[in-house]
Amino acid sequence: MDLNTRRRSAAQLASVHGALARIERGNYGICERCSQEINPERLEYLPETPFCTDCNT
Ligand SMILES: [Zn+2]
Repeated sequence: MDLNTRRRSAAQLASVHGALARIERGNYGICERCSQEINPERLEYLPETPFCTDCNT
């Protein structure tokens, strides 16, 4: 595994841990910036994202 791959995996793992923490707090699927619900389609292809489409830019 090269360094970039390893770095990417670590970042992804951190995101997944963040998602799990949000599930535990009961606010999974809620944008961390604007507190709106994240589009379910977005969650389907980016399940660990903490932001909605508008806030992710
Ligand atoms: Zn948002």
